[in-house]
Amino acid sequence: MERLAGRILGGIASPKDISALRNSLRQLPALLQLLESARAQRLKQLERDTDPLADLLETIEETLSEEIPAAVKDGGLIRAGVDPVLDEARELSTNGKNWLLRYEAEQKEASGISSLKVRFNKVFGSYIEVSKANVHLVPGEYVRKQTLVNAERYFTPELKEYEEKIQSAESVILERETAHFDWLRGILTDNGNRISTTAKKIAELDVFSALAELAREKNYCRPQLNRSKGLAIQSGRHPVIEDLMGEGYFIPNDIHMDATNRNFLLITGPNMAGKSTVMRQVALIGLMAQVGSFVPAESATIGVIDRIFTRVGASDNLSRGQSTFMVEMTETANILEKATSRSLVILDEIGRGTSTFDGLSIAWAVVEHIHTSLRCRTLFATHYHELTRLADTLDRVENHHIAVREHRDEIIFLHKLVPGGTNRSYGIQVGRLAGLPTPVVDRAKVILRKLETEPKAHGLSYSPSAQPPQS
Ligand code: ATP
Repeated sequence: MERLAGRILGGIASPKDISALRNSLRQLPALLQLLESARAQRLKQLERDTDPLADLLETIEETLSEEIPAAVKDGGLIRAGVDPVLDEARELSTNGKNWLLRYEAEQKEASGISSLKVRFNKVFGSYIEVSKANVHLVPGEYVRKQTLVNAERYFTPELKEYEEKIQSAESVILERETAHFDWLRGILTDNGNRISTTAKKIAELDVFSALAELAREKNYCRPQLNRSKGLAIQSGRHPVIEDLMGEGYFIPNDIHMDATNRNFLLITGPNMAGKSTVMRQVALIGLMAQVGSFVPAESATIGVIDRIFTRVGASDNLSRGQSTFMVEMTETANILEKATSRSLVILDEIGRGTSTFDGLSIAWAVVEHIHTSLRCRTLFATHYHELTRLADTLDRVENHHIAVREHRDEIIFLHKLVPGGTNRSYGIQVGRLAGLPTPVVDRAKVILRKLETEPKAHGLSYSPSAQPPQS
């Protein structure tokens, strides 16, 4: 309806648009009636304030045919009975033959010439044909038009009129239908703002009903919003991934944050474990709660969030002169500049696009800055396991990891967020799962082992397992 209202206000609505508007308006009374039993304030208000546009519907119903053509020129747009001139033109155009037959019968009777014929053809137009033998019976008002070998052809003023009418019927139809349609469209355009206001209210109802349907179908809960700067989600799920996986396959996770003891979750864990998923689901649950939706969780209590900031995925903006790493840094800079203590920040792997030490140093400094200066709720996923030690010195940082189970050389993803850090990424195993050639996987394992046991000997001046420097 909102789209239609736009076209109507712009004076460019087509017959199909107006017919679509009619279909929408027909539903309104039943829709508003449903709201009569609603208890929610906003629904009651919508019921009271929504103009059902009954007068406009009535005008459309009275004017527009039920089955409408795609374009005005196709004819049949305006309901029969609206305009006698239009009805006559249509009658002439569709029932012309009947008129001729009737006229022929009348003329036979009046003249007493039983073989008299009244015909119409495109070349000669309409005529009354009388055989030579009966010419003496022809009434005086007949005017001769054409002489054939065995017959004479005549016309009468009535027939002439009929012929002209037939010829102009099509243009009359087009002209009258266009005029009526323009009139109808004009009335709707004049009332465009009313249509637009109703459309907006219906759109609001549409959002409410869609969210309610989803909440019921997917078993969402009603979140509690409060003024704290905490966040607690019990058995939260990612609404989209859960849906893609089918019922029962998604593993729910709990998140607890409070402004004083812990509001910075540092999440480590293997590749493919579900770090991005759990972080995004927290952001989505926060967003859904604040737009007034139920949320995919068993329970959720959320301190009002002023903005959600995310830095996820790798993308570049080459056309604007920004490399992947530059985009990452620009986004991070923006977050550090704008986030407040009420914000929710999701950082998925900061510092990946540069050298290990540069990246680690940036990630480290970002954690410290958020923790100490911004103090906002933050979920920070990283493969820099060194960062997990920050939990020892920064009081609101809490380590979490996503559990996996190792079975011989295989890993089983449990997708469960559990307390504590981890020091393994299982990147090589995931590479194997992804189809890296066996010689590459085997060689990578050898190199990893060497790097882990003798980092200095292999040009690494800083051991991944060493204690991070303290400032
Ligand atoms: P990486 O470090 O490699 O980026 P990640 O830890 O961020 O990985 P995700 O991208 O979040 O991992 O998840 C990988 C896949 O695991 C998802 O596409 C999804 O199919 C599955 N998955 C994640 N979380 C869950 C869950 N809670 N329940 C079931 N499946 C999950």
